[in-house]
Amino acid sequence: ALVGGLGAGALGGYFFGKKQGESAAEKYEKYWPRKIMMLFGAPGAGKGTQGPKIVDTLDIPQLSTGDMLREAVAAKTEVGKKAQAVMASGGLVSDEIVIGIIADRIKQPDCQSGFILDGFPRTLAQAQALDAMLAKNGEAVSLIVEFSVDPAVLEERICGRWMHKASGRSYHVKFTPPKSMKVGADGKVVPESMKDDLTGEALYQRSDDTAEALKTRLDAYKNQTLPILEHYKDKGIVKKVDGGKDIKDVWTEVQAKLVSK
Ligand code: ADP
Ligand code: ADP
Repeated sequence: ALVGGLGAGALGGYFFGKKQGESAAEKYEKYWPRKIMMLFGAPGAGKGTQGPKIVDTLDIPQLSTGDMLREAVAAKTEVGKKAQAVMASGGLVSDEIVIGIIADRIKQPDCQSGFILDGFPRTLAQAQALDAMLAKNGEAVSLIVEFSVDPAVLEERICGRWMHKASGRSYHVKFTPPKSMKVGADGKVVPESMKDDLTGEALYQRSDDTAEALKTRLDAYKNQTLPILEHYKDKGIVKKVDGGKDIKDVWTEVQAKLVSK
């Protein structure tokens, strides 16, 4: 019995040693709930600008359904073909399509410690589908950061936005111009001069970043997306930040909301 006891002890020690070798992600998955965050706000509110800073801080990925859909359109997949026209006009892609995209994406290994939803859910039906998906594992959304911005500033932000396709980095002709930006004699930016600061690759403007499509997008936001906040309000997880401040001041506010206690 003595020998057996020693054996068990040694074995226990061995396994204990193994456990200490678990990566932070493995421990996170095992012992803590995943951080499931949502960035909430109108087009131009600053979700795409602040998201990457949260990614750097928490080491969890940002999942933008807008980026995924744009990739599908560029790659001319079945989903892309279905989504293209409605996206160009500023309308919403069907719930069925985006719910399917997100359901697949959050099963990927890089989501095991958590993830940041950007641009999803956009309708109450999407929010309910998300809740149901998470509930299967006893999980729920843990934090919603709401970017509150005066609608009057959104048009200037959207119409001055330039994007880097590969990284999703966004610039602005007035607020965050790329280092390469040149202005012509007519006072307008020279499109060919718009290059990504890090890679030097060309920037582009989204085809739906026009004043006209923005009107449709803002209507969809007000009528279909805002009710989602009501849905989550009682759970005490919605935290509002003033998205109208300078980018760095908005970040200071966002950082404070990431701390759980
Ligand atoms: P969203 O992802 O919510 O649609 P973005 O983060 O892409 O919005 O921001 C829209 C545009 O406004 C971008 O060109 C971005 O550089 C700029 N922008 C973002 N946050 C601010 C801010 N706090 N002040 C000024 N401009 C901003
Ligand atoms: P923004 O960053 O300006 O808020 P997105 O990049 O999130 O815009 O989305 C661009 C377009 O992609 C939307 O106008 C819509 O057509 C489509 N889209 C993105 N996410 C969703 C979603 N969750 N449900 C329906 N349509 C979506």
